[in-house]
Amino acid sequence: MWPGGDVKIHNSFPTHYLPYNESISFEERVAQIIEWFTSEEPINLGLLYWEDPDDMGHQLGPDNPLMGPVISDIDHKLGYLIQMLKKAKLWNVVNLIVTSDHGMTQCSKERVIELDQYLDRDHYTLIDQSPVAAILPKEGKLDEVYEALADAHPNLTVYKKEEVPERWSYKNNRRIQPVVAVADEGWYILQNKSDEFLLGNHGYDNALAEMHPIFLAHGPAFRKNFTKEAMNSTDLYPLLCHLLSITALPHNGSLSNVQDLLSSAAPKAIPYTQSTTLLLGDDHLGELGQEESYPYFLGVSLGCVIVIVFFVIFIKHLIDSQAPALQDTQAEIAQPLLQA
Ligand SMILES: [Zn+2]
Repeated sequence: MWPGGDVKIHNSFPTHYLPYNESISFEERVAQIIEWFTSEEPINLGLLYWEDPDDMGHQLGPDNPLMGPVISDIDHKLGYLIQMLKKAKLWNVVNLIVTSDHGMTQCSKERVIELDQYLDRDHYTLIDQSPVAAILPKEGKLDEVYEALADAHPNLTVYKKEEVPERWSYKNNRRIQPVVAVADEGWYILQNKSDEFLLGNHGYDNALAEMHPIFLAHGPAFRKNFTKEAMNSTDLYPLLCHLLSITALPHNGSLSNVQDLLSSAAPKAIPYTQSTTLLLGDDHLGELGQEESYPYFLGVSLGCVIVIVFFVIFIKHLIDSQAPALQDTQAEIAQPLLQA
């Protein structure tokens, strides 16, 4: 149910997996993961992926009004997921994370950077495309290709591999090509204007707000009614390792960046700010104010879902004795999570 779930890593497969298949309905995916969590030998980590709004976001562009029904559908799917978790008596014992690997921005045929205008196709191979063109110059053509592109277009920034900014943690892998050309937000790199073009895309500078994914978490391990300005997706890995009590392998994230999300963290008053990170509690909204409902807050956050893939991670909480008893509120089921 997860792209790549059927790949052997470190010589092993997940305990259970389904080869990734887009034609399996969301309801079937939910039923399968709940079955794995409630079987005689329950799993402790389950991953569920859903293709939208990534699929439709690429086709339509995130600013297209036709994305409204797509988001509304995802809202209902999230509601269904919560409903099924409650029915299986898992809602209070699993830690649920709803997140994505990227945002998305609107592209336009008016904002195309055409490599054919600047480079001879015989001088390079295009390994990866917009918005980060990975360019492998032919033997002896590195400087020529780099210089031809360096000042070619005001909305294109060109780096030699060693010049790629540190903050992207992108330049030290053998897969990174000698020349990396990055488009400004909403600009599209094509060899020729007749090449395939998507109205929505991601992969731009991760400092851009439009590239930021959603992050929602609920469960005994997480603080309730807590929002956080931002976090790095690379911090998810140490967070998951911590929740599963396993030792993390070398990585680029930091558990200390996300420690404040955990219910075991020392409570401190953090003022509410509208952000992409939100932890949900079953209590009434308390410090967030009674007049604002879940749909309101989810609406703020799910604004980002318009532009992203979302996938869902369940982690069965291993030490539920730590958790205070949580109360169900029917309101969450009754109300759609997002008013489209
Ligand atoms: Zn995508």
